[in-house]
Amino acid sequence: MADADRNAAASAGPLEPAPILKRIRWGGTKLGSLLGKDLGEGDDWAESWEVADHGDDQSVVTAGQYAGWSLGRLVAERPRALFGRHATLPDGTPRTQFPLLIKFLDAADTLSVQVHPNDEQAKTYDPSENGKTEAWVIVDAERGASLYAGLKPETDADALRAASEAGSVEDLLHRFEVEAGDCVFIPAGTVHAIGAGIVLAEIQQSSDLTFRLYDWGYRDPQGNPRQIHLDESIACTDFNRGPVDPVSPRPLKGLSERSERLVEGEYFVIDRHTASAAFPLPSDDRFRVLMTLSGSATLLCERDSIELPTGKTVLIPADCKPLTVEPAAGGVTLLESYLPS
Ligand SMILES: [Zn+2]
Repeated sequence: MADADRNAAASAGPLEPAPILKRIRWGGTKLGSLLGKDLGEGDDWAESWEVADHGDDQSVVTAGQYAGWSLGRLVAERPRALFGRHATLPDGTPRTQFPLLIKFLDAADTLSVQVHPNDEQAKTYDPSENGKTEAWVIVDAERGASLYAGLKPETDADALRAASEAGSVEDLLHRFEVEAGDCVFIPAGTVHAIGAGIVLAEIQQSSDLTFRLYDWGYRDPQGNPRQIHLDESIACTDFNRGPVDPVSPRPLKGLSERSERLVEGEYFVIDRHTASAAFPLPSDDRFRVLMTLSGSATLLCERDSIELPTGKTVLIPADCKPLTVEPAAGGVTLLESYLPS
């Protein structure tokens, strides 16, 4: 245990990180209209990084004992309070980075077709990077909006390369329409694209390694195509990842009226609570990230309480006592993400 940790005996309670907003050409304005983010001018607000410890992208705590601290500083100076049982990696070395990157995305336009490397592949491209397994939970979808996930059966590297060059990659992708509440799990190596008209929550390994396979013929305002990483994409594609469909949630007993497990993977677990009556959040020596997907609630803590309007994300350190979620009239839907085991 670090000396600094020993001095900080009392839990600081849940942390409220400031969102980091990103403008990208495919973004829109729904991060503001649906999720309450404070957007400026413009209609290309694409991503809100809610919990981030990735290079210069650092979540900063907005209130309480750690106001002004970056997530990276908390990892370095308060590892035991933040991570609890996960303060060291399975091989015994101290954890030096917050392992999850958590975002809201507004895809007003279609994103490029892409693939992410796994941990082993990532290190060959950038020793400081991680692989990227991710999951999406749809917050809002326009009628007919679609996702692309996984390849059609029997697609091999030659077929994918030829299709990328011919501009016909879409023919090889599994496509399906989505609605609010759908969850899709995208392990590293799964070819994917997010279609236009979708707002989603994204839970992923902390990584920014993306290889673009196909860009739908997009040209920037100067008329230039964006770079395609064809060799890297093909090298990182898992050709056994055939059609990927939304997950089937598994009911969880004894929490809220309706608690479900959406994802239980090597890198993260995602549960969803849909509630109109108060329910407890356990304290079991690990951090949790809560995102309010719809409705609102109050998070009752030891000393005070935190409002959870739609679009709000809080990081609950491992040393927090058990908490209570008190939904407002009309109920709340919360997404809870944490590390497995
Ligand atoms: Zn992705």
